[in-house]
Amino acid sequence: MQDYRLHIAGSFVDPAGGEWIDSIDPYRGEAWARIPRGTGRDADLAVAAAKSAMAAGPWASMSATERGKILRRIGDAVLANAERLARVEVRDNGKLLAEMRGQLGAIAEYWYYYGGLADKIEGSVVPVEKPDVLALTLREPVGVVLALTAWNSPLMFVAMKCAPALAAGCAVVVKPSEFASASTLEFAALLQETGLPPGVFNVVTGYGHEIGAALVDHPDVAKISFTGSDATGARIYETAARSMKRVTMELGGKSPNIVFADADLDAAAAGAVSGIFGAAGQMCTAGSRLLVENSIREAFTERLVALAGSIRLGDPMAPETDVGPIATAPQYRKVLDYLEIAAASGARCILGGRPASGPGLIGGQFVEPTIFTDVTNDMRIAQEEVFGPILSIIGFDSEEEAIRIGNDVIYGLAAGVWTSDIGRAIRLSKAIKAGTVWVNTYRSYSFTLPSGGMKRSGLGRESGIEAIGEFLETKSIMLNASSGKAANPFVQQ
Ligand code: NAD
Repeated sequence: MQDYRLHIAGSFVDPAGGEWIDSIDPYRGEAWARIPRGTGRDADLAVAAAKSAMAAGPWASMSATERGKILRRIGDAVLANAERLARVEVRDNGKLLAEMRGQLGAIAEYWYYYGGLADKIEGSVVPVEKPDVLALTLREPVGVVLALTAWNSPLMFVAMKCAPALAAGCAVVVKPSEFASASTLEFAALLQETGLPPGVFNVVTGYGHEIGAALVDHPDVAKISFTGSDATGARIYETAARSMKRVTMELGGKSPNIVFADADLDAAAAGAVSGIFGAAGQMCTAGSRLLVENSIREAFTERLVALAGSIRLGDPMAPETDVGPIATAPQYRKVLDYLEIAAASGARCILGGRPASGPGLIGGQFVEPTIFTDVTNDMRIAQEEVFGPILSIIGFDSEEEAIRIGNDVIYGLAAGVWTSDIGRAIRLSKAIKAGTVWVNTYRSYSFTLPSGGMKRSGLGRESGIEAIGEFLETKSIMLNASSGKAANPFVQQ
């Protein structure tokens, strides 16, 4: 059993309330670590540490170039410790070790990328219409950033939020999910060797409604960057509005993966399977609605069932495993509920549909890869995010119908389009209301490319150059070169 401590002002400390929460290994179904149950007092200490790191001391006076070097050293530290970090996260959330190894490489790239950007955050000289004025814009750090993260990819979310925030000159307080906090605390332990000054990166853990709520309400937090469910996001957004905190929201999805008859059907089938059964469907961008042109629907469905039927469930650490467990007990119950909701609404289950059990499935949190057909887009299974391995197949007859069904949800996070017609690819890419549209691929990400949601899927963007702007304020400066007094002090100049 591993005991963790909070990371505040560069030190590891016990929580003020002296309580810990068991962290469960979802594959084994047993506690493997304890994380601190932080409270309002810990929130205050962490925010105070971040605030003072921004106000005075090495971080406040450091050049952007030096900040960038530190971020790149963080990338090095991630790579040097990748295997250990990967295994910790797998213990906590049941993600595949094979996937985590790849993800750690991408996480390091985030730190390198934003390290490179740190000294390229430029203001501008604006040609104002006033002859005696030199006008400039400066881009300044927004202030203390609160990063609230979900359990499905904690270290990735830390990189996506904190690398641009630190590049911008902010200090952060991270509150990871109570279901998967260990990897973020392990990551914090690596920072001492990178030269990051104390207080710039703090990690507090505990329940969302306790320490999470205290942080959201904290007057010295300027910006909240949140990844999680849309219900929690909306609540946080409301609270943030009271003190005009800036927010970035990365929320849920119900993404359409659209297959036209002219597509490479082998590639489309592989993309459909990876889009919903990868990570047991616990992805915000899961392609949970598979829209298939009716002329190929039957044949394509058969192909899909054959492919998905060969998925090997098992130990996420084992190289032969394709899909691991559901990460948390509440999430497992939610997925099972949706199996019933779908069946009761008239959708026809043609694969899976039950909890999975067997010799290697020891923790009791496995769900069979499941495919429903005869789904209509108004059913709850087609409208609501499940965050599990349940695919709904919906037929369509025309491009217009595919677009209409694709857009007919409250979400707008991602979409896939499978076609060999370049004109159709362009039309669909424009017509689908989603932050990311993949054409002839799915579940492909890059640290260089903005990602985020339209509609109920979120606000703002992460990744790419654009994400830096989420952590900056623009200040306009007017330098008056004229020595004369204002002609009329009561009239605007
Ligand atoms: P969640 O909303 O339950 O929790 C997210 C974080 O918010 C956790 O750290 C939690 O402790 C905290 N929290 C909860 N209530 C809070 C409160 N009142 N005040 C402050 N903090 C609070 O989400 P989850 O179950 O951890 O994650 C699954 C969800 O995340 C899914 O809906 C999924 O779509 C979404 N997600 C989105 C993206 C994206 O990039 N768009 C990526 C991954 C996951």
